[in-house]
Amino acid sequence: RAKEHGGGRVEVYAAHMHAQVVERLELQTELRQALAEHAFVLEYQPVVSLETSQVTAVEALVRWRRADGSLVPPEEFLGPAEESGLIVPLGEWILREACQKVAVWRATTGLDIGLSVNVSARQVLSAGFVQSVEEVLAESGLNAEALTVEVDEEVLLENPVVAAEHLTKLRELGVRLAVDDFGMGHASLSHLRRLRVDEIKIDPSFVRDLDADETVTLLTRTLIRLGQDLGVQVVAEGIEHPWQLRRLREMGCAYGQGFLVGRPMDAAGVEALVGGETNAAAL
Ligand code: C2E
Ligand code: MG
Ligand code: MG
Ligand code: MG
Repeated sequence: RAKEHGGGRVEVYAAHMHAQVVERLELQTELRQALAEHAFVLEYQPVVSLETSQVTAVEALVRWRRADGSLVPPEEFLGPAEESGLIVPLGEWILREACQKVAVWRATTGLDIGLSVNVSARQVLSAGFVQSVEEVLAESGLNAEALTVEVDEEVLLENPVVAAEHLTKLRELGVRLAVDDFGMGHASLSHLRRLRVDEIKIDPSFVRDLDADETVTLLTRTLIRLGQDLGVQVVAEGIEHPWQLRRLREMGCAYGQGFLVGRPMDAAGVEALVGGETNAAAL
């Protein structure tokens, strides 16, 4: 009887696994279609100087627009896109689209607005990565110095040698390099030895627990000081409340991002923002 029972469980389990695999394959097919049909869109979130309240850059964030008009957040499709390798052409599209837009905004406003683009491990490690960035810069006319490539620790852990090689080449082109979600990974500090970086982005979990937890406050202060001492730009992410903004300013954090200082917005929103309709000055 026990055997029967166990066998039944295995079957149920196998059926469940099977359903998951099918679902994932369907999603990958949908994503491939979405890329062909230009169903991905970019939103842009402002990065603000905490000293001047000016918008200094925007971070491109990808969304998938489904047929019903709803926007699917990246966490729901980036994993499968990585698994299937679709992230390579998708990432190239994101880079091209964002660089073209920001090059136009810089030209029309005369403002020195930067662009940050997230890149995933598989994309960075792909053989054509450096060349594709070079091509996109040439096509769009965007200054390499205006582009920041954001990587998280995963990129640096998976294949540190190739990642460092590709990212160093990018830096030689003049592209800036940021480590995203800094402070959350086990090896955050060691990456600063292996790689010259221009920016660290303090993980939102630090900003969230500022004040509630004295240790978090001390760690945040230390990360900000570390950035200052190394000459690395520090951006605090996930600023949602005025008290967080105030505390970060007091600690000397130079840049910030978060719903309080600017939500991700579509291209038209950025055009209005850089055209002068900003409330960042009111902060
Ligand atoms: P990330 O690079 O750390 O981006 C910041 C995420 O935090 C964004 O979520 C943004 O909308 C959200 N956020 C910003 N301010 C606040 C805030 O004040 N409170 C809260 N709760 N959230 C805030 P999003 O757009 O859903 O992106 C999630 C992650 O997906 C990104 O984290 C990034 O790792 C990845 N991602 C997004 N776009 C791309 C892309 O174009 N390429 C790649 N490879 N990854 C991307
Ligand atoms: Mg990012
Ligand atoms: Mg990230
Ligand atoms: Mg982040």
